[in-house]
Amino acid sequence: MKKKVVAVIGSGFGGLATAIRLASHDLEVHLFEKHPDPGGRARTFHMDEFRFDGGPTVLTAPWMFDELFELANQERSKNITFLPVDPFYHIFDWNGRNFVYNADIPFVMEQIRKFRASDTDGYLNLLKAAEPMFEKGFLQLGQEPFLKLNTMLSIAPNLLRLRAHESVYRFVSRHIEDNFLRMCFSFHPLFIGGNPLRVSSIYTMIHLIERAWGVWYPKGGMGQLINALVQLFQQMGGNIHFQTEIQRITTQHGRVTGLLLKNGEKFSADYVVSNADVPTTYLSLLEDRDRAWRHHRLRYERFSRYSMSLVVWYFALNKKFTNNPLGHHNIVFGPRFGGLIHDIFVSHRLAEDFSMYIHLPTRTDPSMAPEAHETMYVLVPVPNQLSNIDWYEALPRLEERVTQVIDQHFMPGLKRHIVKRRVIDPNYFEHELNTYLGTGFSLEPHLTQSAWFRPHNASETVKGLYLVGAGTHPGAGIPGVLLSAKIVHKLILDDIEQSN
Ligand SMILES: Cc1cc2nc3c(=O)[nH]c(=O)nc-3n(C[C@H](O)[C@H](O)[C@H](O)COP(=O)(O)OP(=O)(O)OC[C@H]3O[C@@H](n4cnc5c(N)ncnc54)[C@H](O)[C@@H]3O)c2cc1C
Repeated sequence: MKKKVVAVIGSGFGGLATAIRLASHDLEVHLFEKHPDPGGRARTFHMDEFRFDGGPTVLTAPWMFDELFELANQERSKNITFLPVDPFYHIFDWNGRNFVYNADIPFVMEQIRKFRASDTDGYLNLLKAAEPMFEKGFLQLGQEPFLKLNTMLSIAPNLLRLRAHESVYRFVSRHIEDNFLRMCFSFHPLFIGGNPLRVSSIYTMIHLIERAWGVWYPKGGMGQLINALVQLFQQMGGNIHFQTEIQRITTQHGRVTGLLLKNGEKFSADYVVSNADVPTTYLSLLEDRDRAWRHHRLRYERFSRYSMSLVVWYFALNKKFTNNPLGHHNIVFGPRFGGLIHDIFVSHRLAEDFSMYIHLPTRTDPSMAPEAHETMYVLVPVPNQLSNIDWYEALPRLEERVTQVIDQHFMPGLKRHIVKRRVIDPNYFEHELNTYLGTGFSLEPHLTQSAWFRPHNASETVKGLYLVGAGTHPGAGIPGVLLSAKIVHKLILDDIEQSN
C-alpha cells in the first residue's frame, strides 16, 4: 500500500517535534520552511564567532527531548548536552535589590528572608497550592486534545476548585506579601506571552516545572538543539525543504489535498500540519471562499486577544564584564509592574519605562563567544502591532534608554564595548516569522483562550488539517509546543487507523 504523505509547514520546535514523531511510523513526512535555516522563533544568529539564540533561552522539562530521540532508539545525551543553570534566575528591582532562586528550598528561604521573613511560610504555602495546578494543568490537561466541549465541561468544576479563574498575580499575592517577591513569583507567564495580571493561575505551574526538572541550557546554544532535531528527523528518513514558503493549503470538498508553494509548484499530501501561527494559517493559508473562512475571520480579527511583542538586541562584546551581580538569566523590573503591563497588553502604548530580560549565555557555556568576550541579548516586552508604532523611529531612543540602564547599574562602559549588534522588533515577527500582529507568542493564554477555547489541534473546518505550536492548545513556550506535537501525533495516528 502507498505510504500516506504528511506535509508539515514550519520548522519551529512544534513543527520539528511533530515531524520527528510522525517519521517514526510508516509515513512519508515532508517539512517545509520558508527560511534557509530551521527553528522559527528559536533561530540562531551568528556574528563572526559570536553565537546568539534568537529567541528561547530557558530550557525546562528536558525529558520531552529525550522522548524524541528515544523514538529513533537514540539517547539524547549522545547527541546534545544539556548544561544545568543554577541559580535559575537573577531578578533585580529598579533600586538594584537582587533576588535569586533555584529548586533548593533552604536556599530560596534564605533569599526570601532578605526581603520579608514572614513570606517564607507563604512561599511554602504557595508551592503547596500550586502543586495541583502542575499535576492537573501540565501532567494531565496539557496532553488532552480538547476537541470537544464535553472535555472542557468535565474539568470545569475542578478548575473552579483550583481557583483557575484567578490571575497568577492574585494567586501569588494570596500567599506572598512583599511586592517585589510577588513580582518574582508571577513574571513567568510573560515567557509564554501571558499578562500575569490576567492569565489563569494554572500558569503558576511554570515555576513548579522549573522546580521539578530544573533549568537547562543546550551546550552550544538553542541552535545546536534545533540542529540535532533536524539531523534526527533526516536520519529517520524525513525530508526537509528549506527556503520553501507555502502560499496555500489546498482543499477539496472540505479536506486537505496538499500545498501550493510560493514558487507555484503543487505538493500533494494526505495530511497537513501547520506550525505557522494559527491566525495566519486560517486567515492567509486557507482559501477565503467558504463560510468556514468567514467564521475564522470573525474569530481571529474581532474576538481574539493577542500576546505582546518583543524587541531583542543582540550585542557582541569585546570584553567580559565580571564584576557585577548578573548571572545567565537576568530579569530587571522597571519602576512600575501593573501599569507597565497594562500599557503593553491593553493600551498598546510604548511607555517611557520598561522591564527587561538580559541573557548572558557565556556564564554557563563560554563557547558562545570568543575567549574574554561576551555575547548578550536584551529583551524588552513591547505592544504588538495593534499599537501602530513606527519601530524604525522608536527603536534608537529605546535602545539608548536600555543601554544606559545596563551601563549605569551592571556593565559600566557597555556601549564602548559593543563591537557588533543586531535587533529584531515586531516587524520581524510579523514579516519574517509570519505571526499575526507581530506577536511574540500568538494568542494570549488567558482562561477563555485556553484548553477547549484555544484553537484546536485538529481543524474543525478542514479535514486532515492539524495545528501545532504556540497558538494552539496547550500554548506557547517550549514545553507547551512539544506537548502540542504529542497531541497532533496521536490525532493523526487515530485518523489513519479509522480510515483503514
Ligand atoms: C524572544 C523569545 C524568547 C523566548 N524565550 C523562551 C524561553 O526561554 N523558554 C521557552 O520555553 N519559550 C520561550 N519562548 C517561546 C518559544 O520560543 C515559542 O513558544 C516556541 O519556540 C514557538 O514554537 P512554534 O512551534 O510555535 O514555532 P515557531 O517558532 O513560531 O516557528 C514557526 C515556523 O514556521 C515558519 N513558517 C511560517 N509560515 C510559513 C509558511 N507560509 N511557509 C513555510 N514556513 C512558514 C516560520 O518561518 C517558522 O520557522 C520565547 C519566544 C521568543 C520570541
